Amino acid sequence: MKFVDEVRIQVKAGDGGNGAVAFRREKYIDRGGPNGGDGGNGGSVIFVADPQLTTLLDYRYQQHHRARNGEGGMGNDCNGRSAEDLVLRVPVGTLLRDEATEEILADLSEAGQQVVACKGGRGGLGNMNFATSTRQTPRFAQDGTPGEERMLRLELKLLADVGLLGFPNAGKSTLISIVSRARPKIANYPFTTLVPNLGLVQYKDGLSFVMADIPGLIEGASDGVGLGHQFLRHVERCKVLVHLLDMGTESEDRDPLRDFDTLNQELAKYSEELSHKPQVVALNKLDLPHAQERVEPVTRALRERGIAVFPVSCATGLGMQPLLDAMAEVLFTGRTDKLHVEPPPKVRAQKKASAKKAPATKVAAKKAPAKKAPAKKASAKKSAVKKAPAKKSAVKKAPAKKASARKSAVKKAPAKKVVKKASAKKAPAKKSAAKKAPAKKASAARRRRS
Ligand code: GDP
Ligand code: MG
Repeated sequence: MKFVDEVRIQVKAGDGGNGAVAFRREKYIDRGGPNGGDGGNGGSVIFVADPQLTTLLDYRYQQHHRARNGEGGMGNDCNGRSAEDLVLRVPVGTLLRDEATEEILADLSEAGQQVVACKGGRGGLGNMNFATSTRQTPRFAQDGTPGEERMLRLELKLLADVGLLGFPNAGKSTLISIVSRARPKIANYPFTTLVPNLGLVQYKDGLSFVMADIPGLIEGASDGVGLGHQFLRHVERCKVLVHLLDMGTESEDRDPLRDFDTLNQELAKYSEELSHKPQVVALNKLDLPHAQERVEPVTRALRERGIAVFPVSCATGLGMQPLLDAMAEVLFTGRTDKLHVEPPPKVRAQKKASAKKAPATKVAAKKAPAKKAPAKKASAKKSAVKKAPAKKSAVKKAPAKKASARKSAVKKAPAKKVVKKASAKKAPAKKSAAKKAPAKKASAARRRRS
């Protein structure tokens, strides 16, 4: 079915019927008196949120909606019939906006919620109402009032708890298809998804939440490039956003970190509020070898900004549970602890210092495989070197030995103990003591962070 999320329609409530001017005329009854009845009320235009609907498509075809007018009053004391209200059904999550004033008339965010968009006119009084002792033949009646008329803009903002963000082909549709029963079209070309999809994710303990997959954004989306950023409206109401980074991209001009920044800029251009929503950053496609190679630098770069990343593969399902846990925690408890990590203290200063003191260490760290564990060890060692300020000279004196020890240690990917032992052996007693102490600190800090 075609998905339509914005329409302009004209609605008009019914006018009230006019009151009648009439007099009783009957054989043998002289001066029967006024008996003109009242006019009926016009029908109002009412919008109702209907959970069965998902699109505003119907309103694309029919753009004028009029409620019926009230019937006029009649002689013989007959009142006109009031017209029925015109009930217009719209999907849940529809916003009614007055086209002329841009004022939001209603936000139909709950099933069954209704709002009177245009009030029907009131019927006029017939002349029988105006008879008094001194004015026994009122030859006038009241006219009905006209019904309200409006140009409305209906905007559908899907109601989802979690919104997926990402460049085209990042794997958003794949993610929603494995965590929910939504089956969007998935293919390896950009802009496969042209309309938003919703999926219900069954989380633990009977908890569930709704996830929205929207078409991908690209640089310049705010200026209408690609599909533009109009679909961001559907994630406006989400409580948490999942930002998927495509780690497996092979094109030259794409880079996960740059994509991340670009998309956040587009987000900020669309709405400041949206850019401050909690974001769960997931690195996708980690089943691909070249994606795995990128994990380490990207993780490190984001960690410097205090952002925690979730390595996943939507194709194999790897890392899904931690990702869902992170979303659920923000959704159900409002805590965002899992989304942040403490940035490593003075990363830059440390890097410079270590470049001067022990260049070999840096090389060793670089050469380390892209897995997380050895990388952490390397950084722990770096900090160990720096955190021993009193014994600076001692550290300086024997850098080559230590570095080589570390190098081999990292290469063999040993446990912490081995590293300590190796350094203890090669360094004099004092030095090793100096190193051990800060190493402990570092590990304690790491534990705190995790
Ligand atoms: P979207 O544009 O963000 O919705 O991306 P899609 O979900 O349509 O996925 C784009 C392509 O990436 C498809 O060919 C998917 O099969 C592929 N893809 C998605 N996730 C993964 C993954 O974790 N690993 C691999 N290898 N491919 C993936
Ligand atoms: Mg898609």
